[in-house]
Amino acid sequence: MAPPRATVYPRGEPPGERESRSPGGRLEAGGRPVSRRGDFFVRFWGVRGSVPCPGPGTVRYGGNTSCLEIRCGGRLLIMDAGTGLRGLSGSLGPGPLDADLFMTHTHLDHVCGWPYLEALTDPGTALAAWSGHLEPPHTLEGVLRRFLKDPVTPATEETVRARIAWKDFAAGDVLVPREGVTVRTAMLRHPNGACGYRVEHGGKAICYITDTEHVAGEPDRNVLGLIEGADIVIYDATYTDEEFPRFVSWGHSTWQEGVRLCDAAGVKTFVAFHHEPGRDDDRMDALAAEIEAARPGSVVAREGMALAP
Ligand SMILES: [Zn+2]
Ligand SMILES: [Zn+2]
Repeated sequence: MAPPRATVYPRGEPPGERESRSPGGRLEAGGRPVSRRGDFFVRFWGVRGSVPCPGPGTVRYGGNTSCLEIRCGGRLLIMDAGTGLRGLSGSLGPGPLDADLFMTHTHLDHVCGWPYLEALTDPGTALAAWSGHLEPPHTLEGVLRRFLKDPVTPATEETVRARIAWKDFAAGDVLVPREGVTVRTAMLRHPNGACGYRVEHGGKAICYITDTEHVAGEPDRNVLGLIEGADIVIYDATYTDEEFPRFVSWGHSTWQEGVRLCDAAGVKTFVAFHHEPGRDDDRMDALAAEIEAARPGSVVAREGMALAP
């Protein structure tokens, strides 16, 4: 029996605004009636790992690095600040922002969008910036201030006028960033550390597990514990099992391991994410077909797509 699908919005229309149900449970763009599912969803603004890869070969899946928008009852949670954050910023329009930004870690592909969140220039913006992978003496503020300054970027303390609450925590902590939103966390296996997230709202759960390496034949207990029974699991699928032996210790996983973990943990929808930048759209289509055959109802993340549990 095929596992239940998440509701897929291929072009990322805000759930509840412009979608109609088509056969097979997928929602396609361009119709009504209004859905009630818009209360909790994830939208992909950057799906690549390692380095941006724009160009004619990546138009359909996208070339920006990691950035997700998660909406919980109207609350905005941003996951990672890769180059996808620039597109998310543009979609928000002018004016101050009240949001939480959760960092899996501070490798360049996950932080290089920071200076392009326009709301950071607005003194009315209140941003809570969360990070659980760093160990003392490192803090998220300290790491970013080393990066967000002259001469690496023109962003300065004069231009970044938002109120930022720095929320360093220890991976494993349970966070309640907003009333009605619980965020569980776990340490992942990655050089310099990384933190996995499970966002719970209204009895549903979306997990974001990226930049993590598995050990062949040994399911990661931290990951299994975090994704148990989740509705949607977005997972580091940088490599295939065939490629993996050449990249041991690089800190990434495979779509096959993601499928194995999701099967073991009773997850509804597996989402392949953090795509290897060298894979063009045709190669991604071929991978998507293999993943669909292995676990029907799975999703390969594309820029602009939204998913609702
Ligand atoms: Zn990465
Ligand atoms: Zn990384």
